[in-house]
Amino acid sequence: MREREFTKILDWPGYVVYRHEIDERTRTLKLWVRRKRGNKVLICAGCGGRCSQIEETREREVRDLPWRKYQTVVVVEFYRVRCPNCGLKVEKVPQLPSKAPFSKDFEDAVGLACESAAARQVARQFRLAASTVRAIDLRYLERWARSRKKSVLRQMGVDEIYLGKTQKFLTVVSNLETGEPLWFGKDRKEATLDGFFRDELSAMQRSRITAACADMWEPFTKSILQWAPQCRIVFDKFHVMQHANRAVDEVRRAEFFRKGGRMRGLVKGKRWLLLTRWVHLDSRKRQLLNELFRLNRKMMKAYLLKESLDLLWTYRYEGAALRYLNQWIDQLRWQRLKPFQRLAGMLLRHQEGLLNYCRMPVRFGVVEAVNGNIKALLRRGRGYRNFRYLLLKAQRFAALKTEFLVLQKAA
Ligand SMILES: [Zn+2]
Repeated sequence: MREREFTKILDWPGYVVYRHEIDERTRTLKLWVRRKRGNKVLICAGCGGRCSQIEETREREVRDLPWRKYQTVVVVEFYRVRCPNCGLKVEKVPQLPSKAPFSKDFEDAVGLACESAAARQVARQFRLAASTVRAIDLRYLERWARSRKKSVLRQMGVDEIYLGKTQKFLTVVSNLETGEPLWFGKDRKEATLDGFFRDELSAMQRSRITAACADMWEPFTKSILQWAPQCRIVFDKFHVMQHANRAVDEVRRAEFFRKGGRMRGLVKGKRWLLLTRWVHLDSRKRQLLNELFRLNRKMMKAYLLKESLDLLWTYRYEGAALRYLNQWIDQLRWQRLKPFQRLAGMLLRHQEGLLNYCRMPVRFGVVEAVNGNIKALLRRGRGYRNFRYLLLKAQRFAALKTEFLVLQKAA
């Protein structure tokens, strides 16, 4: 093969292969490239401005995509230039995205592989160290993030993820409309979320937020009210229902320990059934629950209360929703269901944020979906010490899903 054909197959725009070497023993193909004669627009790597004065010529070796069974190494000629703004700098070469010894095409291939496999598997495939694969993937994602358009934040979601004993909590801010995570913060304090509003958004951007979907965690509420006072806080239905489920479970446990013998056997192993919504149970499971309810009125009451609370979010007018909430609380009288009385107190204290849903019907599933994706990434990647990497990974994950949906719709 001649150099012209190597140039064609390598396909680096603006560059030609002027020498090659094939080592059959090590199965390596080595290509020397330099700029095409007409390609002399030099860009400063520091400021991105144009330069014309070349100070010296240098060479760098990078790994490129393999050619069949041959590992490919490209020796790139590049210049050190005199930039009017930055002084002596290296020129920007599109195929040399970083100081690491890999071409952009190679890094893109590794990054793409990381979208569907764990870093360890990709490392094996490309014969690289797992830490190298992660570093390449991070740069790949940073390049992707820089190239995309940022969408306006109108509806935000705030939630936290428990990371474990040492790292504790991670605060997650997401965009409810695009369904992607926007920002991570260590811990879940008021100051944590303050950091997002202060560092990530301008006053103008903060004023555009119309709704915030959050759980009933006081520090978050305070921070939102301080930085975006015009926005309506809508408490996440999912979290409220989690509290209701916890109340059902407390009643179940109390009944289990209070009663002995037959009742104990009947309550045992029913936890999952009691926490599942009636509509999701098949007839056999409904029958199991009905048996339990016939013998234990308290369990039945607790289950019905949980089930009926769910209807609160079907109301479209605040007045009607409020009336429903009060009726629901009235049912608790004389029931001696302590966990539900506590829940009622909590609902009353957060009444405004519950009723805000009528005017601001945000998509409730989004925050949970974003959280679920992050947890899946954490499980697969075994500990991301770098939160920036985790965030980019989760954003890419969310973007790929929407891209996929767009494609499906187009088809
Ligand atoms: Zn410059």
